[in-house]
Amino acid sequence: MSTEPTSVLLTDIGELFTGDPERPAISRAALLIAGGHVAWAGEAADAPPADTAYDVGGRAVIPGFVDSHSHLVFAGDRAAEFSARMAGESYSAGGIRTTVAATRAATDEHLVASVARLVAEMTRQGTTTVEIKSGYGLTVKDEARSLVVARQFTDETTFLGAHVVPEGTTPEDYVALVTGPMLEAAAPHAKWIDVFCERGAFDGDQARHILEAGQAVGLQGRLHANQLGPGPGVQLACELGLTAVDHCTYLSDADVDALKQTGTTATLLPGVEFSTRQPYPDARALLDAGVRVAIASDCNPGSCFTSSLPFCIALAVREMGMTPTEALLAATSGGAAALGREDVGRLAVGMRADLAILDAPGHAHLAYRPGVPLVQQTWVGGRRF
Ligand SMILES: [Zn+2]
Repeated sequence: MSTEPTSVLLTDIGELFTGDPERPAISRAALLIAGGHVAWAGEAADAPPADTAYDVGGRAVIPGFVDSHSHLVFAGDRAAEFSARMAGESYSAGGIRTTVAATRAATDEHLVASVARLVAEMTRQGTTTVEIKSGYGLTVKDEARSLVVARQFTDETTFLGAHVVPEGTTPEDYVALVTGPMLEAAAPHAKWIDVFCERGAFDGDQARHILEAGQAVGLQGRLHANQLGPGPGVQLACELGLTAVDHCTYLSDADVDALKQTGTTATLLPGVEFSTRQPYPDARALLDAGVRVAIASDCNPGSCFTSSLPFCIALAVREMGMTPTEALLAATSGGAAALGREDVGRLAVGMRADLAILDAPGHAHLAYRPGVPLVQQTWVGGRRF
């Protein structure tokens, strides 16, 4: 039997980024963890006693990142497509079919090993909660299989059968499949349902029909929208009361108003704009309007193959007008809001003790030192990973 101490006090924290809106950062801090949760947080001078202490040596401690948007269940890669794009070809939704063929051909063992590798990569970079979508199977069997694989790694699984219409079928027949037998096979393994609402994928009416079918069997909706151009997706997400709508690159004033009014989280995915050389979303306008904003990786083999939230934070600060504090909040408590989670994303009493220790004195270094592996340790549920 292990003889684990019941409480651990992290001491000599140079800066504790709690994510509390009133007081997001505390200097010279300590953090008490008990039973896998935060039991106390504050200035070191006031720290309560604990069974054991762990000295972090003046480093910053931040909440673990909550990556609310990823597509990790796939086989193969599309480095050649990326290289072609960097040589001047444009990005379209059609490249997804390349990954679909590779994913269908892969064994279960291969898919599990591939997701395990990517999740470990994320954890090393400070991510402690991840959402994983299906969407590269596009048959009843392969979508259900993708979700069974994803469930081994997270409870935040999303059925994205409506990623693109596969070859050999019509949009009408495929939507009927997605809302019928495919939904039935996927629903037991999924918490969420998602649609790629975009030119070349699914239009607003199709997206509404698919989301409502998912909601009818107990799934919660989220949506890919307004990535490649203006469209109906953001308004639809707000009308249906979805927790989050993702991409939000091309927004009208009415879209921003609707997000503000409904409280739907706008999830920004700056790694995609970086990797496709598209314009970045206007995060400044969203924040100034009072919209809740999240940042996520969108880790996928086509439009953005990064698993690094620190990289996305650096992009958000440099390219989207966010401050380092706003960007970190978006990648932690913002991500939690995008998943409807109240137990992660902040280091307040009662929250899960998911955190990253940075080899830096403060959280601003995440953007100030782009590309540097600053995450020294990741703790999940009070245990060092
Ligand atoms: Zn995506």
